[in-house]
Amino acid sequence: MQKNIAILGSTGSIGTQTLDVVKANSDKLTVEVLTSNTNADLLIKQAQEFNPNAVVIADDKQYHKVKDALQNTDVKVYAGEDALSQVVQMNTVDTVVTAIVGYAGLKPTISAIKAKKAIALANKETLVVAGELINKLCEEYSVPLIPIDSEHSAIFQCLVGEPDKIEKIILTASGGPFRGKSLQELQSVTKAQALKHPNWSMGAKITIDSATMMNKGLEVIEAKWLFGVPHSQIDIAVHPQSIVHSMVQFTDGSIKAQLGLPDMKLPIQYALSFPDRWHNDFPRMSFADYPQLTFEQPNFDTFQCLRLAYEALDKGGNTSAIINAANEVAVSAFLQEQIHFLDIPKLIEKAMQGMDFVSSPTYEDYVATDEETRKFTKNLI
Ligand code: NAD
Ligand code: MG
Repeated sequence: MQKNIAILGSTGSIGTQTLDVVKANSDKLTVEVLTSNTNADLLIKQAQEFNPNAVVIADDKQYHKVKDALQNTDVKVYAGEDALSQVVQMNTVDTVVTAIVGYAGLKPTISAIKAKKAIALANKETLVVAGELINKLCEEYSVPLIPIDSEHSAIFQCLVGEPDKIEKIILTASGGPFRGKSLQELQSVTKAQALKHPNWSMGAKITIDSATMMNKGLEVIEAKWLFGVPHSQIDIAVHPQSIVHSMVQFTDGSIKAQLGLPDMKLPIQYALSFPDRWHNDFPRMSFADYPQLTFEQPNFDTFQCLRLAYEALDKGGNTSAIINAANEVAVSAFLQEQIHFLDIPKLIEKAMQGMDFVSSPTYEDYVATDEETRKFTKNLI
């Protein structure tokens, strides 16, 4: 049976790799919707190649550019942020791949769940900000949510057939470009150094999150909501080769791991094929190329963001929404070379201390928290 997918953020790193998976599985996957924030040129090119039912350019100033370029096709063209939440509801869409980066992914994901679309989730910020609400909605609308994030896909795969006997989740982390560095050494690191990830080629925001290790912090929070385990049962193992994508230790002490080359196309394809596995021709891992797989403890003193993320998880309420918003503002300022690398955790900690705590947030509380935290953090910069 053909599966019709909408790809939110099709012009990004996950989005373009999702289209590679579609190309390799064109007998099983059809593209219904493609969207981009500002990259009109690539969106047009993708629409011409994949002939979707509709495209959205979130930046409405570029509507005419996209519309004119696609005038000789049947592709419907929409613009603006609200259109993202509308196109996911089209009755021809089965599954929505959420490959938008950041808080902007939350609203269209909620809209897709309410329209009973299966979710293939790359946008981890959705669960970081509003995990409790998303879980509630998925249950209410009977919607499956399958993780694309490589660690969470690994855990999900380990849990197939025995989801309830978890003793511990062991999230692996590459350690990023600054693994082994001291706090002192991080004082002078540049944007170019932070953007050089050793194993993965990803969008700019998640690459900086990997350098600060906030990415792993966000993933701990993501794991809590996906797998229903508390802080005390989520460990991190720094594994610089990025071959073991994560592990589950079961109640009898037995550990299962999922391994493979660091290639996001694998977890993307699995999220779309589950519960099946599809053959593909992607490169295979050979143990001969990896004579050593090593594991070490994360350094919470150097990577303050990790500590802050665990703190947010323990505090609950809207605290994860606060660290997410402060982190997005701080990372963007770092990418514009307005602040130093070590200002990122400092700004997040100040936002955690300065913002009002809401213990049982509604959707409106998350929206207000995000908006106010952004204002607060920008004022500090
Ligand atoms: P990216 O920056 O490469 O792409 C982001 C996409 O979202 C682009 O298509 C962009 O046009 C769109 N977008 C950005 N801001 C938007 C906005 N405000 N409104 C609408 N659309 C917007 O990012 P990425 O690396 O592909 O990451 C996407 C998500 O997947 C992130 O949440 C990230 O944490 C997660 N993720 C990525 C990887 C990876 O390998 N890249 C791995 C695991 C998880
Ligand atoms: Mg990951």
